[in-house]
This record gives sequence, C-alpha cells and structure tokens, in this order.
Amino acid sequence: MPDVLLVEDDPSLQAALTRALSSQGFVVTACGTAMDALGSVTEREPDLVILDLGLPDLDGGTVLRLLRSTTDAPVLIATSRREEGSIVALLNAGADDYVTKPFSSEQLLARVSAILRRTKSGDETNDLLAVGGLSISRQERVASLDGHPLELNRLEFELLSYLASRPAKVVTRQELVRAVWRRQLNGTDRTIDVHVSWLRRKLGESAAHPRYLHTIRGVGWKLTTPRGDDASER
Ligand code: CA
Repeated sequence: MPDVLLVEDDPSLQAALTRALSSQGFVVTACGTAMDALGSVTEREPDLVILDLGLPDLDGGTVLRLLRSTTDAPVLIATSRREEGSIVALLNAGADDYVTKPFSSEQLLARVSAILRRTKSGDETNDLLAVGGLSISRQERVASLDGHPLELNRLEFELLSYLASRPAKVVTRQELVRAVWRRQLNGTDRTIDVHVSWLRRKLGESAAHPRYLHTIRGVGWKLTTPRGDDASER
C-alpha cells in the first residue's frame, strides 16, 4: 500500500483528506508543520508527499527545496489561489503537480493516482524488464546480467530501469534527469554523466566498446540488445 505524507496545517482539511486517502487504501501520515514533515520524510520514506504551501513555520519554496534534498518521493502541492503565481517556479524546483484550493477529495485522489502511476512506487504494470541478457525487477529492485546479480545503487538502478523500459530508443539527457532526479537539467551539471559511467562500468563495458549502453553524442543514451545477440538489432 502506498505511503502518503500529508502536510497540512488546517486541522479540518487535514482530517478530511486523511479520511479520503485512507478510504482508498493509502497509509497516511499527517503533520501540520514543515519541521515535522522533514522529520517524517526521513523516518517513513513515503511514496508521495502532499504539501500545503501555507505552513506556519516555513514558506513553501523552502520546504520543497528541503524535501527535495532528502527524498525523491513525488510532491503534490496544494496551493491557494493567491499563491498560484509561484507554481511554475515550484514545478521547476521539483514539484510533480499541484491542486488549487478549494479542491474536492476526488480531484486530489485522481492527481495522487496519476502521479503514482507515473512513478516507480506505483508502477506495478511493467515490473519485469528484459533486454538481451539483462533482467530487471522494479518491484524487488534487483537487476542481473547473464544471470549474475548487479550491485547497483539507487540512482544506477533507476537509470538502468528507465533506459531498459525504452529499449533501443534514444533517451535524452533532459528526459533522464527529469525521470531519475525529478528536476530540470542544469546545462553544466555533469552528475548524470558520472552516474552513467559508473553504471556502464558495472555492466562490464566502456564508452569506447559499448554493448548495451550507447552514448548518442550531444543527445543522450540508449540501451539495446548487443549486436549478435538479437538479429533484429541492425
Ligand atoms: Ca495552510
């Protein structure tokens, strides 16, 4: 069952949303301050955070930034109409979606389900991925190559499973950064290149002699079945 952290300081709204979410099977942790939210995120590792922008202790932008530095759980922002102007900035800062108050529980639940469908925690449809000798179980978060388990850290696993879910398709840097880090690409940021090269090493290959993971210069990467393993590749 997905774990939802609800951050809302209005007690009646907090109670109503907790009821609505619980009735749909979500496990809800509710809190009313940014400080409690930040503590809860580290402790409970929720699958999704619903964040009210008007909290008593910290402004919404700051809370979002602090959340983003501690969790990669998707964040759904609940905003009042007068705060709506800052929405674009918040989406750029890593929020996944927003709802404007007043909203119905149905509307909130629909947004929550849509976000969870898009993200790994809610994705149960495409659990098993296989490309050539690579196999990946997203539910169990394990991957193996030719039957040997791969020791991947969280980011490497995310990179690999995102690429493997789109075999033989070029995935741009922008798309990969958004999917794995959930933020906009900073043009000078080489973080992604570093993680891709670590992943590549764990796959036992190099940029000069790729088998699965190919660099498309200036664009991004693609993961394919090695040539020779599958006649349909070239
Ligand atoms: Ca509030």
